[in-house]
Amino acid sequence: MPNEFKRLETMLIHAGEPEPRIEGAVNVPIFQSATFEYAGGGRYQDMKYIRLSNTPNHIALHRRLAAIEHGEAALVSASGMATISSTLFAILSAGDHLLVQDNLYGGTHDLLTRDFSGFGLSYDFIDADDPCSWERQLRPTTKAIYVETISNPLMQVGDLKAVPPFAKSHGLISIIDNTFATPVNCTPLDWGFDLSLHSATKYLNGHSDIVAGAVIGSTQWIEKINLKLMHLGGSLDPHACFLLDRGMKTLALRMRYHNESALRIARFLEEHPRVARVHYPGLESHPRHERARELFAGCGGMLSFELKGGLSAAESMMRRLRLPIIAPSLGGVETLITRPALTSHSGLSAEDRRKLGISDALIRLSVGIEATEDLIEDLAQALD
Ligand code: PLP
Repeated sequence: MPNEFKRLETMLIHAGEPEPRIEGAVNVPIFQSATFEYAGGGRYQDMKYIRLSNTPNHIALHRRLAAIEHGEAALVSASGMATISSTLFAILSAGDHLLVQDNLYGGTHDLLTRDFSGFGLSYDFIDADDPCSWERQLRPTTKAIYVETISNPLMQVGDLKAVPPFAKSHGLISIIDNTFATPVNCTPLDWGFDLSLHSATKYLNGHSDIVAGAVIGSTQWIEKINLKLMHLGGSLDPHACFLLDRGMKTLALRMRYHNESALRIARFLEEHPRVARVHYPGLESHPRHERARELFAGCGGMLSFELKGGLSAAESMMRRLRLPIIAPSLGGVETLITRPALTSHSGLSAEDRRKLGISDALIRLSVGIEATEDLIEDLAQALD
């Protein structure tokens, strides 16, 4: 894999580009062809076919993703959930057990709680902040441990650096969902994680115009996951590959702005008399602020908060906002606002949400790249 560029900003533009350039094209053209002339090789995965994720668009994107996240190889897929499910199904077979962070994205939570048993798989939720408790939940059949860099939607930062050594000492595969932090703010493979995965729908693409996923790790693991993805069929279309490739070129610029803007907005909200609490790891008041400072270059654009007036205050404030769009998803250039109880975490029972601390009144803000002052003024008028 060509990885001759040392710095992230350069890799985001140039890593993985075809050599020589195709017809001199500065961008990798879209290879909108389902199949390609047979070129020999003999193995199933040697055929070129979109579902096998091996068109020139896939190959360039895989190289770039591997370079920016410091892995040997990468694989994109048709959504974050396609990546998460094909990764877990590549690692786990019937009878196997998974340790998984309790506070995590609702879709991943639903996959475990609703679908795992049908495949003969089991799991236990762990407190990612308490490594001493993990060993007690191990079983002889435990195969992997799964965490999120910054958890959705409460922005918790677990004891992430404790995960790879724990996994190694117990023969487990360590997996991290790095969607919220992105490789601009941290590269968990450097801490020893085996696999880092993303909903590329979010920051990697950054423009809320495609759904995609990505996983980065060793060549051996990525090949295994690709074999599973070929069977499950969740490959990314070349046109979406092109858009993701284009979006990623500005990732570093966007993330630095998101980091700065979200921190200023979190500070504004924390000081506002109508706000009860703000969850953002960049705030000194966040219980794991020191850890976040040590682990991350910035804390990203996601924050959540609750108002003193509870649910009715949350609803009326959201109605009064002019700039943030009330919509699920996150990580785009535009600011989105949502109540996780109605969107990302609506699949969880009210009791499960309560246990995890996700109240009905919790508001999640994905800070975009609009002028920070405009967002603060808008939040101020809606709160006042
Ligand atoms: N991981 C995280 C942290 C997410 O927030 C999401 C979606 O919101 C996903 C994974 C799933 O991604 P997708 O919607 O692209 O399937």
